[in-house]
Amino acid sequence: MPDYEIYALKYAGPFVRTGAHLMWYQDWDKIEKIYYYFWCIKGASETVIVDAGVTPQLAMERELDGYVNPVEVLSRININADEVRHVVVTHMHFDHAGGVSLFPRATFYVQEDEYRFWLGDPVAGRPPFKYVSDAASIAYLASVEGTDRLVLLEGDQQILPGIQCLLSPGHTVALQTVAVNTDRGTAILGSDCAHVFRNYTEDWPSCLIVDLVGWMKTYDKLRERVSSPDLLFPGHDRLLLENYPEVAKDITRLV
Ligand SMILES: [Zn+2]
Repeated sequence: MPDYEIYALKYAGPFVRTGAHLMWYQDWDKIEKIYYYFWCIKGASETVIVDAGVTPQLAMERELDGYVNPVEVLSRININADEVRHVVVTHMHFDHAGGVSLFPRATFYVQEDEYRFWLGDPVAGRPPFKYVSDAASIAYLASVEGTDRLVLLEGDQQILPGIQCLLSPGHTVALQTVAVNTDRGTAILGSDCAHVFRNYTEDWPSCLIVDLVGWMKTYDKLRERVSSPDLLFPGHDRLLLENYPEVAKDITRLV
């Protein structure tokens, strides 16, 4: 089984959030700093990008402070976005799926239930869902449906040797996390199953809950699967940038 290295790439921020955004219904009076990230899983022969950041156009519309085009961030570790073959979309919120068009030759891996919700469920067009999604990236993914550039996954599925997508609902209908074989065992890129490490350590979710019961069961599943608790990574914690060795500007090595 191949071993992979995992990198966190910051593409926007810092943003200031109230504590209650990061720890659901707690910490109303606290303020914390977060970042927007995507991730890179690098093996001897394969590179997999996890989430896509956002396009310059979307960054402008959303007025994202500190935005750098993900294509530019990737070039700092000698990865050409044009040549990326595999992109896992953990969920279809704008800050994770908004940059899919930046990877013109990639195959995208999305959970089928997540994809169908955003494309087909009328609820996805209601204000709270519209607010967190991006029509252009949804349309882009729709345009590649039926080709080999879109793989719709049904539950837990290995996409390459040593890399498995895990159905992890709670934050969205069918968010997926990514279990990765590393030299320290199985690490999990958990995306927004947790915004910050504290969500895992205190067994308490963050915000935008579509299924609280499902979310808690997802925590059980991820803890059972990961080789050690410190290999379970959240989606927006400033510590991903601040507590790990920096390999290039805005890029740290997690494992
Ligand atoms: Zn997010």
